Amino acid sequence: MSVFSRRQFLKLSASSALTADVLANEQPRNTGLVIDDGFLAHKISDAHPESPARYQAIKQHLLAENLHKQLRLISPTVDAETWLTKIHSVEHVNNIKTHQPTTYQQALLATSGVLSAIDAVCMGNVTNAFCASRPPGHHAKNTGQEEGFCYFNHVAIGARYAQQHYQLKKILIIDWDYHHGNGTEWAFYSDPSVLYFSTHDMFAYPGTGLPERTGEAKGKGFNINVHLGCGATDHDIISVFRDRLLPVADDFKPDLVMISAGFDSRKDDLLGCHDISDKGFFELTEMVKTIAQGHAGGKIVSVLEGGYNIEGNANAVIAHIKALMS
Ligand SMILES: [Zn+2]
Repeated sequence: MSVFSRRQFLKLSASSALTADVLANEQPRNTGLVIDDGFLAHKISDAHPESPARYQAIKQHLLAENLHKQLRLISPTVDAETWLTKIHSVEHVNNIKTHQPTTYQQALLATSGVLSAIDAVCMGNVTNAFCASRPPGHHAKNTGQEEGFCYFNHVAIGARYAQQHYQLKKILIIDWDYHHGNGTEWAFYSDPSVLYFSTHDMFAYPGTGLPERTGEAKGKGFNINVHLGCGATDHDIISVFRDRLLPVADDFKPDLVMISAGFDSRKDDLLGCHDISDKGFFELTEMVKTIAQGHAGGKIVSVLEGGYNIEGNANAVIAHIKALMS
């Protein structure tokens, strides 16, 4: 309860049918959902595509489909502050904390959500979990400022948390966001204990993600970049998952699978030009589940990254959660 005071938390919980439901929600459920109206707060500017409306639409769709009653709702309660520097420099963290103190708390809440999801999965309360958190994280490095709408790399921090807090040795991070997760590649480029697999358009922001970038030193071979150009379809990305991801995942044998679940690779996105359908994301999720069930006891922690068509993003999230639950 470090990010928000107890009073703030209760106020948020009381204001939200979703967060309130967690209190009365004790029966076993296989899929967890990290949700908190604190994820509404962050706003870069009025017309910015990484907007609170993204979270609002996801919540509305969950309620409309009554899905929240079939999920174990998880609040972001882990004290994440000390874990930020497992990935980021003290200078980076302090720069954001000093110059953007409100944003700092909002980004920290998202990190806390991911660590809370890892707790739920690793303690066996759920098999898998999705974090409907924002701001996103996979572009965050150590520049002391926002990069690509990101401040802290929640998934990378989560991977270290799983390794150090739960002694899980090998983490597979799958990133299907339209953009390359340059922050995640940077964090683990020489580390063979984290396999990073990304599909993205390498000609888009941030201009990284070349296939020849495969890792260095002991991490050689543990960074896999797959370029998918504009117009990439369900068939294209599913083929890549089947032909490239499944064999390396079977060799790697992860103890936990994490997803950088960006839905700006969905059709009709404002910033992306891939053409993935909601059904496509359902099938990708099923493939990731097969990997997790084969090696990691089914353990998946999935984290929202991009996705800027408000309705489209919410629809893709719902399809993804339904596949996690199935
Ligand atoms: Zn993106």
